[in-house]
Amino acid sequence: MTTFEELGLNSELISSLKDLGFVEPSPIQEKCIPFILNSKKDLIALAQTGTGKTAAYGLPILNQIKSNEKDLRAIILCPTRELCIQITQDIKDYAKHLKSISVTSVYGGSSIDLQIRALKKGTNIVVGTPGRVHDLIRRKVLRLQSIEWVVLDEADEMLDMGFKDDLDSILEQTPKTRQTLLFSATISKSVHSIAKHYMNDTEEISIGEKNIGAENVAHEYYVVSTRDRFEALKRILDHLPGVYGILFCRTRNETQEVADKLKRADYDTEALHGDVSQAMRTKIMDRFKHKKAGLLVATDVAARGIDVSNLSHVINYNLPDNDEGYTHRSGRTGRAQKRGVSISIISPREIRRIKELERIVGREIVFKKVPSGEDVCQKQINNFLDEIENTEIKEITNEQHFTEIADRLNKINKDDLIKHFIIHKFGHLLYANQNSRDLNADAKTFSPRKLSGEANSAVKINFGKKHGFSIKDIFGLINSNKNLKGIEIGKIDLMPESSAFSVEKDKVADVIKYLTGARYRGQKIIVTKGSEGSSYSTRSRSSGSSYSARSRSDRPSRGFSGNKKRFGRAR
Ligand code: ADP
Ligand code: MG
Repeated sequence: MTTFEELGLNSELISSLKDLGFVEPSPIQEKCIPFILNSKKDLIALAQTGTGKTAAYGLPILNQIKSNEKDLRAIILCPTRELCIQITQDIKDYAKHLKSISVTSVYGGSSIDLQIRALKKGTNIVVGTPGRVHDLIRRKVLRLQSIEWVVLDEADEMLDMGFKDDLDSILEQTPKTRQTLLFSATISKSVHSIAKHYMNDTEEISIGEKNIGAENVAHEYYVVSTRDRFEALKRILDHLPGVYGILFCRTRNETQEVADKLKRADYDTEALHGDVSQAMRTKIMDRFKHKKAGLLVATDVAARGIDVSNLSHVINYNLPDNDEGYTHRSGRTGRAQKRGVSISIISPREIRRIKELERIVGREIVFKKVPSGEDVCQKQINNFLDEIENTEIKEITNEQHFTEIADRLNKINKDDLIKHFIIHKFGHLLYANQNSRDLNADAKTFSPRKLSGEANSAVKINFGKKHGFSIKDIFGLINSNKNLKGIEIGKIDLMPESSAFSVEKDKVADVIKYLTGARYRGQKIIVTKGSEGSSYSTRSRSSGSSYSARSRSDRPSRGFSGNKKRFGRAR
């Protein structure tokens, strides 16, 4: 195990990392820190969301700024104000034991005068959004001639958000001798073009497979007709007591509308989108971070840079317009070694997108049925009874209440008491869910089984991670073979020595026939049938590698009290 000391960081930074509880560097940090400390070459660093990119550039830059230095040495550009605030705070945390290093953040939607004043005092590092930084350069408050490092954090997002022109003019103002450090979760064409224009002699460090969803995230989808989307959402939420997550909507209007409707139905939710004022935003984020609200309804833009690491779920009320958006959204959960679930509610027409997304995230997206009203009752009641059973009994002094209560309740016979109790607590739930409609889209209009693997069978191939074999290679082998092209691939499991993937049962023979004897990196391919009688996805589930059977301890401890509130009223 490499330590932060071994990467060459000074003792002040090491003590800050101790304070923060960072025990060992993450993989992207392990590679980037020594590189930035020792090389003047430009860098493209690619790693998924939540892998610790801020420290990967922040630490080596801080390590090279002398205390009492007056000049502006580094500028960090990022897409949103939330991210700006977060990065600034992170850098300040790292710099805690360094003497007199100053970090200033500048972003839109906040008083420019205050930011100008802060800059005039002199600062070593500026963290800013491209629009505001450009503005400050034009006003000649921000001068970049002494800059040594330019960091483009979430470069792909900045370009997606239309900051290209601002970036162009900012980069033009920095000295040619600068080192440009580009950090991104995905590499798109526009990132390439920035690299081509503004970077030279570039090193690329990439951790994990680009565009691949985090290992800790399980993916699920529900198919409902568009008009039932909201009802289905409520059922899904009701079936997830303790959910703590973000619900993604496409537009500001939709975000507000869905949040309002949920609130009216007594769910504890908050809406976050571009029309929400900064003051409100702070309040909302505070409620959400402290789990006062279990569900944050948000647009993609508003959710960027929200750093909440223990989300149990990400829910796509609609699929995002592009595949990268899906990766970004699902990357919000499954962070900090915790498991997460990414749920999509789609219409039958969007089934094709699921297939495409499976390819992008490199794992199966599991088809799920919208729970019935009965399922919801069952789940809520069981959850409540679990809570009752597990209630910790603490010593209390005013015990006389117990006797009073017991005296009164003793007058009711036990069966009646249970009935009263159930109706009081769950009457509304039971009433609302009796004769409830099946919200699943008519299965005739789509074929989820094909995708989710139950009618699939596994094949084994004699290449694995050790040989550098990847998910892409599997798709490559299948699609470049004229007899196999277009075959649907289900769950893929890459093991060290070999790999397995599932295809429809009636395609197994073809896959064996046409791939065996073909070559991978010059070596002969051998394909065999996976173990008999067990469809691949079933097998992996029982071995515990699928997340569908989450243990109770995986659930967040406090949770989405919306359900309790909703069903807890006396009626
Ligand atoms: P990214 O920019 O890659 O999405 P961040 O830099 O925001 O990721 O880091 C994600 C989280 O991981 C943050 O809460 C951060 O404090 C934490 N973190 C970063 N590096 C480490 C480390 N080496 N050990 C423990 N936690 C870390
Ligand atoms: Mg980041």
